[in-house]
Amino acid sequence: MTANIVLMPGDGIGPDIADEAKRVLEILATHHGLDYTLNTVDVGGAAIEKSGDPLPDASLAAAREADAILFGAIGGPQWDTQPRDQRPESGLLRLRSELGLFANLRPAILFPQLAEASALKSGVVANLDVLIVRELTGGIYFGKPADKCSNAQGQRAAYNTMRYDESEIARIGRAAFEAARVRNKRLCSVDKANVLHVSQLWRDVMNELAADYPDVQLTHMYVDNAAMQLVRDPNQFDTIVTGNLFGDILSDTAAMLTGSIGMLPSASLDAHGKGMYEPVHGSAPDIAGTDRANPLAMILSLAMMCRYSLARGDLADRVESAVGRVLDMGLRTPDIANSSETVTGTSGMGAAIADMLI
Ligand code: NAD
Repeated sequence: MTANIVLMPGDGIGPDIADEAKRVLEILATHHGLDYTLNTVDVGGAAIEKSGDPLPDASLAAAREADAILFGAIGGPQWDTQPRDQRPESGLLRLRSELGLFANLRPAILFPQLAEASALKSGVVANLDVLIVRELTGGIYFGKPADKCSNAQGQRAAYNTMRYDESEIARIGRAAFEAARVRNKRLCSVDKANVLHVSQLWRDVMNELAADYPDVQLTHMYVDNAAMQLVRDPNQFDTIVTGNLFGDILSDTAAMLTGSIGMLPSASLDAHGKGMYEPVHGSAPDIAGTDRANPLAMILSLAMMCRYSLARGDLADRVESAVGRVLDMGLRTPDIANSSETVTGTSGMGAAIADMLI
């Protein structure tokens, strides 16, 4: 089967790291039998500049037809003052929502070679391997009503709604139980059930689902405690499942445990295994176009794409192993380097991974 891959480079360092993903795809095709077509389309600020829309119809149509989407990053200060629906971020939120990409998988894995780059002591993060499963298309980021208003005294006010229907909770819950099942069979559901009605429903549904997964041990934790435990003893976790807002914050916390946000891939999946794959980091306008961006989060996202949407787990293993071996050689981009290592740029790191795959 020829895989139809859509590439959305986006803004800032997005195009820099997208070039390295292309380089790796070409090697996987010429040396390891990956059969694919690549369609590159605009999204985010780059699309706003051309058409005034952060998610043009043609880009959305291409994404709908794709087997998988590789997404760089979007955003930049020049669009921060635009009306909300004409900002790059609206394009990304719409894309996730239109494609029904409800399950966001964010592995936080510490490559042992980078233990010293972690914000925590190396003993605390040794062997770190946590998977955070975040609900991505519901909760407070999408809940209605949401608006600005004024109160009875004429002061400015604003409100958002955190809402989940039981089917939305069950859908992400099942995805998380399935993911935990092929890992260490421990699932921690994170909520705020001591305060929020929506979290009490979340907890009830997770408990009901547990009956279908007797081989997975389900525990619950309040989000404030989970934030503390993630930095105190992250290795107590195997798989975490949580809602959109809590997952957004906890996954960035987990990101720092691994040394650099430039190392963290993610997958956002629909109900049929189609997915969008993107680094966790943003468009890093401060280093865009300077050959200083770490392309490894993008390349590791490509590996997740091979595993979850292209049924080529063998290629995912190859790419992940190549990343480990290049780090073993002491090659580093500036964000993960210390004084004794060889510092290279975005293209140097991409080329080293590609060479390792030959
Ligand atoms: P950011 O992740 O872009 O950057 C935070 C810091 O990390 C910066 O110092 C940056 O240089 C560094 N960094 C990020 N990725 C790196 C990489 N691959 N290699 C080396 N260093 C890296 O976050 P920010 O500065 O808060 O946001 C910048 C823009 O990105 C904003 O417009 C924001 O809205 C957007 N954003 C987009 C996404 C996305 O596309 N999914 C996610 C988050 C933020």
